[in-house]
Amino acid sequence: HARRIEGIDKNIWVEFTQLAADYKAVNLGQGFPDFSPPSFVQEAFCKALNGGFSMHQYTRAFGHPNLVKILAKFFSRIVGREIDPMEDILVSVGAYQALFCTFQALIDEGDEVIIVEPFFDCYQPMVMMAGGTAVYVPLKPVCCGPVLSSADWVLSPEELASKFSPRTKAIVINTPNNPLGKVYQREELQMIADLCIKHDVICISDEVYEWLTYDGTKHVKIASLPGMWERTVTIGSAGKTFSATGWKVGWAMGSGHILKHLKTVHQNSVYHCATAAQEAVAVGFQREYDVFGTEESYFHQLPIHLHEKRLRLADCLKSVGLKPILPQGGYFMIGLATIPVSAFYSPEHRNEFQKYIRFCFVKEDTTLQAAEDILRQWS
Ligand code: PMP
Ligand code: GLN
Repeated sequence: HARRIEGIDKNIWVEFTQLAADYKAVNLGQGFPDFSPPSFVQEAFCKALNGGFSMHQYTRAFGHPNLVKILAKFFSRIVGREIDPMEDILVSVGAYQALFCTFQALIDEGDEVIIVEPFFDCYQPMVMMAGGTAVYVPLKPVCCGPVLSSADWVLSPEELASKFSPRTKAIVINTPNNPLGKVYQREELQMIADLCIKHDVICISDEVYEWLTYDGTKHVKIASLPGMWERTVTIGSAGKTFSATGWKVGWAMGSGHILKHLKTVHQNSVYHCATAAQEAVAVGFQREYDVFGTEESYFHQLPIHLHEKRLRLADCLKSVGLKPILPQGGYFMIGLATIPVSAFYSPEHRNEFQKYIRFCFVKEDTTLQAAEDILRQWS
């Protein structure tokens, strides 16, 4: 086998999904909803499939035109600048492939990539496959008092600054974070942005949970801060956005001068992702564009729905003697035997976080009830 895959044959999701199936476990491990996507996107998918031959055939390599056009229109309003649908967006096979294209396109042998811990596990093998070296910097609970919210987990500006070197090519952040649920505040993003600008470093911002924030916490895109659009690749996922993880539609968004390199990787590996799924996601975003900011919006409704589940799971964990860290965003909570949080740390920092366990709450109430029953018996 090739050296680039040395040591990365094990995968937490492959292993735990199999274990959950083998033992018919109540699965709060892997992050996917056990409920259906909203009917407007399901109907759009069916309509696409029944709408003639073209939805069954190839489409534009870098993204189905209807999808890139509406993504550009939608996110221009959010980022506060004109996004070019043809230059600034690449549609990928889930956020996974957007990340893969980003690392392959931008990281060379010998480059360093700063990764904030805890991190979604694929960043490290992807950096390694590109020939780069991961340099880790942990979010840590602030020293005093009981730690109850993901907001209490912070980066030390000095420690972060100390990780930048002449070899640093990029930094990866994830907000809202998986598994902690931390949502970076504007000042924290500004501190990261200042370092990126000072050291001429690219920011890879994984924002797949961007619509899922709670208790009034606001998600801020680092690409919208001054001077950052030109050096940020923002990663998104229709799987998370519309609760349709099996459709595997994602995207990378950023300045055309960076995105063109991601396109080179994409056109020489995957070429494009499923046409009908892209069409359905396009219809979904058009609908969300039209109802944005109203109570009808799915991006408004989903976090309200999950907020309840999150409080329910937190209460359950407390009642069995665990200390949940209430997430400000995303669909995971740490506190307690699902996916061990150690998988989200580098080997050197893993021991400090061994005592935390991650739970996923994007589940039907019946699933949460079944988990509660098991936990209560166990305690
Ligand atoms: N980034 C993060 C932080 C995730 O949790 C996930 C979940 N799968 C992904 C990327 C990959 O997203 P997708 O399913 O769209 O490939
Ligand atoms: N992102 C999801 C999680 O964190 C699923 C990842 C996967 O299945 N590979 O659980």
